[in-house]
Amino acid sequence: MQIFHIFLMFLLILSKNKNTLQGIGDNDDDTCVAKDECQLDKTSNYKKEFNVIVHEIQEARKSYTPCSVDIEDIECVCHLHVIDSDLSFFQKNGITRLMLNDAAKYGTRYKIYNHTLYRDSNCMFPSRCDGIQHFILKLLPELPDMDLVINTRDWPQISLRFNVELKAVFSFSKTKDYADIMYPAWTFWAGGPAIALYPTGIGRWDLHRQSLKKASQKYAWESKISKGFFRGSRTSDERDSLILLSRKKPHLVDAEYTKNQAWKSPKDTLNAEPAKEVSFEEHCQYKYLFNFRGVAASFRFKHLFLCKSLIFHVGDDWLEFFYLALKPWVHYVPLRKYPTEADIENMLEFFKKNDDLAKEIANAGYEFIWQHLRMQDVECYWRTLLKKYANLLQFKIEFDTNMIEIKSKSN
Ligand code: UDP
Repeated sequence: MQIFHIFLMFLLILSKNKNTLQGIGDNDDDTCVAKDECQLDKTSNYKKEFNVIVHEIQEARKSYTPCSVDIEDIECVCHLHVIDSDLSFFQKNGITRLMLNDAAKYGTRYKIYNHTLYRDSNCMFPSRCDGIQHFILKLLPELPDMDLVINTRDWPQISLRFNVELKAVFSFSKTKDYADIMYPAWTFWAGGPAIALYPTGIGRWDLHRQSLKKASQKYAWESKISKGFFRGSRTSDERDSLILLSRKKPHLVDAEYTKNQAWKSPKDTLNAEPAKEVSFEEHCQYKYLFNFRGVAASFRFKHLFLCKSLIFHVGDDWLEFFYLALKPWVHYVPLRKYPTEADIENMLEFFKKNDDLAKEIANAGYEFIWQHLRMQDVECYWRTLLKKYANLLQFKIEFDTNMIEIKSKSN
């Protein structure tokens, strides 16, 4: 009898490890792992919604093929389709001098002439310009002459709804309603948001990668606190439902608003005193982390993945160049725009009950960012983008005496 039991348990373990999803959702009792929780589910609305989640994950896994199997991936192939898509607006007629002169008011004018970088004497945000120039300066020996307008504001500029004339402007983030050409944000090197914790601004992705990798090892999955976590300012009220859920159910979520430069009173933190800021590394203590758009895409997204926590990503409108290579349900958990408290609670409950699945998605997200969002991938993206862009220019670049030469700063 005992031998029979051991054999039965062995079979059970084998079938569970083969595929965490196999068996979940196959019959009415299978959307949860523990038997008593399954009983509870029968009396709640979760049941039906849990089956939908299982179905989404199954479908996403079926249709997923890795963008690159080459571990070195020196051509940054996972991201290149974004360049082609952004430049496709200009493929037919190319980019003329007139188009760039018209676009100049939307950003900072740069020129590459004879392997030297020139810029308008004014840059609206000097540290953002530093974060852009750092990458272009490195590439100068291999870049042809070109003329470009780089928008250093958060917001994209060339709306497909309102701009009749197409203009070529580089922006770090956009939605599908804009024709801006996405470039890797300055914050990979410098000029990210300056908060009390990072007073000179978030930057140096190379260093954050290393410190977050260490934090992910310090807070291994099994030791993480089984709660949702968020710290950030109210750059968008889309974050409110998570904050409110946390106030009602602190055992499920720990989410609070912090101050930003625009903070005037507790009204700006949804009628509460601003919370103390928490470093990216300390976020890694928690199993479930939230990403929301802010003014445009939030820089936090890439950092959160390196905690090896499960990322809940709200809304799919706002993009940076690397977002489209990440797949919902494979690398992260998508939540609809302006999720309700119930949406968030339901999703958290599902993953609390399906811990192996949560860990698998968390690991897949980590692996993707670790392997395909290295500094070399950012450089590779800049290189390919600028070379393809230069091919579209329909005029000869001339030296401009009004521009200043930009030289490399010692790192
Ligand atoms: N941030 C942080 N710890 C905090 C608050 C914010 O690390 O306690 C980071 C956050 O992840 C983001 C940046 O600071 O990368 C600015 O956050 P905020 O919410 O103010 O604006 P967002 O850019 O997300 O709209």
